Amino acid sequence: MRTILLGNLGDVNFLEYGGKLVYQECPEPEPERSPLEAKLRAMGCGQWPEPESPGVPYMVVVEPPPEDSEGEGEWELWQLSLEKVEDPDQEWFGKATLASVASLVGTTVSELREAFASDRAMDRAWAYASVAALHGFGEFDGYSRKMSAHSVYTEFGLVEDCPCQDCNEDD
Ligand SMILES: [Zn+2]
Repeated sequence: MRTILLGNLGDVNFLEYGGKLVYQECPEPEPERSPLEAKLRAMGCGQWPEPESPGVPYMVVVEPPPEDSEGEGEWELWQLSLEKVEDPDQEWFGKATLASVASLVGTTVSELREAFASDRAMDRAWAYASVAALHGFGEFDGYSRKMSAHSVYTEFGLVEDCPCQDCNEDD
């Protein structure tokens, strides 16, 4: 079992500008991908088949610190599982909220409903992110992680781009 990245609803430079990364456990070896497909997937572009999985896909939301913090601010990360929701009216973000969410993100209540019940994790990620646009991700994950530049760049395997002072002493 391995965890694969299905896509990203945020910026391709997600550590700089914020990202919403969707992951899923995948029992099969990950299929070979061309560099272009890998890049487009990471950007959340296109419609890709999603692998069958026994696990629930999840989204990791990365919010960078304000721009003027020069690598010394804190990144905040939330993680929420993307359960299928057949009847959003029964959830805390039921009927009344969905109408406000729809007008905020410029969609319709029925599209949100369809996305919550979709078989595609990326559709569900969009629905959850839309609700969070109104209520914040803290409503889905009350235990966000705060991380330094160095730890967050290390976690995502991008430490060579780390903007912290220790990594940039020679500049
Ligand atoms: Zn560093």
